[in-house]
Amino acid sequence: MLTNRQLFLKYLGQTSREPLMIEVERAEGVYLYSSSGRYIDLISGVSVSNTGHCHPRVVEAVTRQASAYMHTMVYGEMIQSPQVRYAEKLCSILPPALDNCYFVNSGSEAVEGALKLAKRYTGRSRIISFRNAYHGSTHGALSIQGSESFKNAFRPLLPDTFLSTFNDPASLEMIDKKTACVIVEPIQGEAGIILPQNDFLRKLRERCNETGSLLIFDEVQTAFGRTGRMFALEHYSVIPDIIVLAKALGGGMPLGAFIAPAAIMSALADNPPLGHITTFGGHPVSSAAGLASLEVLIEGNYISTVKAKTSLFREKLKHPLIKEIRGEGLLLAVQLQDPRQVKYVVSTSPAYGMVLDYFLFCNDAFRIAPPLVIEESHILMACSGLMALLDDTMRRFPV
Ligand code: PMP
Repeated sequence: MLTNRQLFLKYLGQTSREPLMIEVERAEGVYLYSSSGRYIDLISGVSVSNTGHCHPRVVEAVTRQASAYMHTMVYGEMIQSPQVRYAEKLCSILPPALDNCYFVNSGSEAVEGALKLAKRYTGRSRIISFRNAYHGSTHGALSIQGSESFKNAFRPLLPDTFLSTFNDPASLEMIDKKTACVIVEPIQGEAGIILPQNDFLRKLRERCNETGSLLIFDEVQTAFGRTGRMFALEHYSVIPDIIVLAKALGGGMPLGAFIAPAAIMSALADNPPLGHITTFGGHPVSSAAGLASLEVLIEGNYISTVKAKTSLFREKLKHPLIKEIRGEGLLLAVQLQDPRQVKYVVSTSPAYGMVLDYFLFCNDAFRIAPPLVIEESHILMACSGLMALLDDTMRRFPV
């Protein structure tokens, strides 16, 4: 009989030559468990498990909803209490203008929906995104991705898409009256955690107002307390026309959403109707899990703890290999001297009892984005393991 490891390699489509291959048996709080040990999760499945793994309230909500009903009908036809209650809750914590929620399955699908909505509402086709941006892997989302090398093998992609440079004021000139929308991560994630500078987001907002283009914030990675505020937009006091959410939105279950003013969203309902269709979007079990996870996040006041936790990481991670720690809240990029060191750190992290990850478009930094429920004792333990791993790395790849 083949082992699970062998089955994984034989039957699952592989997209990487070096998967981490931890065989997960269970997960709880900040830990993943396999038959060979326990790993502290320092990446949250890439910003998903903000309230930790298998929080009892989330598990309870999933179990309760699964035994009441699961899928009943394609999105938008039936009234499902987890979905409508979650939509109401989300709109109540967002800026008041963002008051209408379309639930989908994933971040990529939410991006697709947001782009279609912008085209439909403005009657324009031009889309502007940014170099080193990541918005997902489906064809539309890939078309606006900020890396030519990732895109080239899949061309032709969507026409009328243009890449601009994040934080470059000159990029504002690209936005004109033919522009349907500008889509931007308020803090760039896969670029290696790049913060906006010099009021860049506000300038984007102003230019979009001048040209009648919609501004879309992709907060798939930055929302739900990750950066120390519920939404990253709160750091900059800039309100987009559409916000895109996923990852932590589902509390560990698959869920995405694009949220806009009702007057904009209504463009999907006529001429033609059914402007976006999704079978499983806003699945009741995912919505129940997401709502429970958000309640845990709010009631546990976890977002107010993020700042001190970030400072502890920054204070404890002082090492000759570390050039810089960038980021906001618990969304951190640890910049080393050279990509070989990063590759070694990430691939060896399980041997040191932790899980770390790369960035797609920044090969000389690794990611730290633990569940927000991480405690001081976990951080101290993780940092001492990481320092030993960095010592090991320095012996192999001296500065
Ligand atoms: N936007 C951003 C900013 C992301 O980080 C991601 C996922 N890494 C996506 C969109 C796509 O989300 P999904 O993988 O759920 O399709």
